[in-house]
Amino acid sequence: MRLKTFETDTIGTSEGDLQITALGHGSLLFTYHGTQIYVDPFSRVADYTLLPKADLVLITHDHRDHLDPEALARIRTSATEIVHPERCREKVQDGILMRNGERRVVHGLTIEAIPAYNIVHTRESGEPFHPRGHGNGYIVAFGNLRVLVAGDTENTPELKALRDIDVAFLPMNLPYTMTPKMVAEVAVAMRPRILYPYHYGTSDTSRLVELLKDRPEIEVRIRRLA
Ligand code: ZN
Ligand code: ZN
Repeated sequence: MRLKTFETDTIGTSEGDLQITALGHGSLLFTYHGTQIYVDPFSRVADYTLLPKADLVLITHDHRDHLDPEALARIRTSATEIVHPERCREKVQDGILMRNGERRVVHGLTIEAIPAYNIVHTRESGEPFHPRGHGNGYIVAFGNLRVLVAGDTENTPELKALRDIDVAFLPMNLPYTMTPKMVAEVAVAMRPRILYPYHYGTSDTSRLVELLKDRPEIEVRIRRLA
């Protein structure tokens, strides 16, 4: 499995191009000025021994498909910085802890952590799949381009209140995250220039395209991120 088998988009920023590689599920690779930034590396979607070493890794939460120590070990070097929420601390070790609402500059990039959580989708016990405070979504500024990777979340007020997001990755697999309708609702409020549904499992992405067909200002890009 070589890098070229993955779909890669190039998006211009005020300070050069950003490459976005869709690795699969919730896993992404951003390449910017030669810096390799991974989100939620997961062994099931890629052979990370064949991918570049990481300069920076963003972990959204501690579920196995987002925090995979094996994948992390493949791309981590002594110089790799790993940003994660509290609950990932033990498995990551020596990372950089970020809580909901915090902002930091890591590897020269401004990163904001926002809450990622369920409101209506719960386990049988009534506990949300993703309780508030456990997980982060991240907004990363690449020059003037603000990219949101929302993590496992629903259409929260915090998400809908975000503005000035150029590129948004919003999750759409059920029952753990959002329905296409919830994703569309967030998109209409947030108005990203480019919307990638990601982590969409078996959800019908054409449903989202249909829901946003009267919103030409939002470009919906479907990539292999099931
Ligand atoms: Zn999860
Ligand atoms: Zn997940």
